[in-house]
Amino acid sequence: MMRVLLFLGLVALSLAIKKRYDGDHVLSVYPTDEYTVHYMHDLYNREYLYMDLWTEPRAVFSPIVFRVTADRYVEITRQLDEAGIAYDIRVNDIQTLIDEEEAILSAKDYSQIVPEDFDAYWPFDTLMSWTEDISANRCGGRCAITSIGTSYEGRNIRLIKIGTQTNTTKRAVFIDCGIHAREWIAPATCTYFIWRLTQDYGSVAEVTRLVDTYDFFIQPVVNPDGYEYTRDVERLWRKTRSDYNDALGCIGTDGNRNYGSYWGSDEGGASDEPCSDTYHGPSEFSEVESQRQRDFILPIKDRFIAFWTVHSFGQYMLWPWGSVFDVPPNEAELDQVGQAIVDAIFNVHGRVYTQGQSAVVLYGTQGSSQDWAYAWEGNPGGSGAGIEYSYTPELRDTGTWGFELPPDQILPVGQEMWAGLQAMIREIESIGLPP
Ligand SMILES: [Zn+2]
Repeated sequence: MMRVLLFLGLVALSLAIKKRYDGDHVLSVYPTDEYTVHYMHDLYNREYLYMDLWTEPRAVFSPIVFRVTADRYVEITRQLDEAGIAYDIRVNDIQTLIDEEEAILSAKDYSQIVPEDFDAYWPFDTLMSWTEDISANRCGGRCAITSIGTSYEGRNIRLIKIGTQTNTTKRAVFIDCGIHAREWIAPATCTYFIWRLTQDYGSVAEVTRLVDTYDFFIQPVVNPDGYEYTRDVERLWRKTRSDYNDALGCIGTDGNRNYGSYWGSDEGGASDEPCSDTYHGPSEFSEVESQRQRDFILPIKDRFIAFWTVHSFGQYMLWPWGSVFDVPPNEAELDQVGQAIVDAIFNVHGRVYTQGQSAVVLYGTQGSSQDWAYAWEGNPGGSGAGIEYSYTPELRDTGTWGFELPPDQILPVGQEMWAGLQAMIREIESIGLPP
């Protein structure tokens, strides 16, 4: 009897701590003029509305997708109506989608993962043991796992190098995924890259050439604490899990506003409010997760020809700057390579990705890793890694599913991005590798 009660108690506890989103709506606005873009940005800044932006107000003709809590729905739609702004209801009750997703996830036996079935979003530990297994047993001695330190909650942050196991001076590509916790498709896409780079070696001539020529550094989960938190407690969490004893009890920093590039500038693309989803943290590189990545990249920065930080969603391929409106010195090359990437993506499954400078984004993103990776020594916004081809892929979709992208899209997303990645390298080669 006691055991049964204890068991029931535990079940109740685990049910009780999981955040629910009953009645939360997902809306979208399709701005056809700048007034609407600005209005939506202002609306977001009315903090009492608790709007959760799923895509940022970017530019005219870029849909703005956002979650509205059940108790603010009437007020927000009233304000939109008053402003004469039309909106679509994308999702009536986000909790039903989360419930469906959870049913799929909990039916999965993660101890029986078959490497090639990319049909589920894996827990962090599964993802890491899978990566270690690939490195040790399925990579022909061309892989190495590096631990770059621990996260705020003590999880081991690892990345895999694919190319040459021992230290080399080969040119290299850096790819990270999962800095934003709720963007589950991102880590899944990193694992797909790992799979193709290791399994196609020796059978696909181009992959053999790429792996022989370059080292690929892939960091599948930048923010493991946040990732696990989205699985166990709050599905739509975005930030890290660091705690700075905020008076209101708010937790976490937006890792992608925490890098030392135009950090904390008041252009409006990051927040100094700890409760905000875009809180930039108390200081630049305050988050151990961004520190670890910086400290890994900087000593070998001259080896990198390209940097990708993979996000979702919106189907974009963005390049610097996101922080300021300045034109980057190699704008023509960033644009040419960006176009080659989105063309290659389109050719796989017909998905249209939009490429361009983040300055087409009307509201910047100060302190992003994309800008930090790109910023050269002595750049006015702060010195970075000086990597000439720095991109932020925003994966599928454009808001039909948003963060609740069904796992049957993991494979097609992986396939199209894999084509994009290879196209990028070939286009850079055709221009000439950066010095
Ligand atoms: Zn993101």
